Amino acid sequence: MTCDFCYRRCDIAEGGYGICRSRAVKDGKLLSPHYSELCSAALDPVEKKPLYHFHPGTKTLSIAEEGCNFFCSFCQNYEISRHHKEHVCIDEDTIVDIALNEGAPSISYTYSEPIVWQDYMLSVAAKAKGKGLMNIMVSNGSFSDESIKRILPFIDAYNIDLKGDERFYNGIVKASAIPVRKGIEKISNYGSHLEVTTMIIEGIHNEGMIREIGRFLSDAGVKVWHLTRFFPSYMMDDRKETSEAYLTRMYEVARQCNIPYIYRGNSISHDDTICPNCGTKIDRYVTNGVCNHCNAVIYGEFI
Ligand code: SF4
Repeated sequence: MTCDFCYRRCDIAEGGYGICRSRAVKDGKLLSPHYSELCSAALDPVEKKPLYHFHPGTKTLSIAEEGCNFFCSFCQNYEISRHHKEHVCIDEDTIVDIALNEGAPSISYTYSEPIVWQDYMLSVAAKAKGKGLMNIMVSNGSFSDESIKRILPFIDAYNIDLKGDERFYNGIVKASAIPVRKGIEKISNYGSHLEVTTMIIEGIHNEGMIREIGRFLSDAGVKVWHLTRFFPSYMMDDRKETSEAYLTRMYEVARQCNIPYIYRGNSISHDDTICPNCGTKIDRYVTNGVCNHCNAVIYGEFI
């Protein structure tokens, strides 16, 4: 049987699992054996996703089932990307109630890869929407054509990782950038709130790669790009962390790519939001989404 949750479209035989090990075939049925088993739940500032232009200053209830369809050597969440952590089963209504009781206006599907547990995500998201909550997806963006269609109506905001060029994906992620780029274009065309993150590994991400990614993002209409510092992790724990100076070099290249809002992350730099029209500094936490100097619209949803 064929799973259509992500671009890999695994053909799964009776008794077998897909590449992500989140989908299986049992008794002639394609199913998610870990449905609703949460390995992580926390109340986070929405900026931690990172989303800087989507209701800044609010909390979001972050949840994750285990599982991922990528094999990044640098995985920063490897403990939950494969199935070996403790979990608790929590049904959809309880998740929505927790968010409401905690005063969080949104639920985030994050930490691992929600594409591989999208059945549970969509079920929670539909109930959350019914109660006036917003939904946020933090994802590697490797949707199938079918899954992006299913997901778009339910998710209000996305942070999608665009990790590098095709060579980087083939070598270090054991995946492809092509479906990720397609996913970014589809989200942008649909008009959902979208921010993109690229983690910079010193000596691997170079100026040419950043320029090429920047060109693609600009053409796709992406407005917010986060460049974050790599720290040693998982199979790349023997590599040096990316220096602030290297991150800043890549940031300066990114600033030439015609993307209006660029931020450094995991960094001592705290980049301000600047009006792309007149250069005035915008206070993200008090703005109504319009520059108070020139009246230009600031991309995003603000309180
Ligand atoms: S989610 Fe992707 S990797 Fe997992 S079984 Fe389905 S197609 Fe395969």
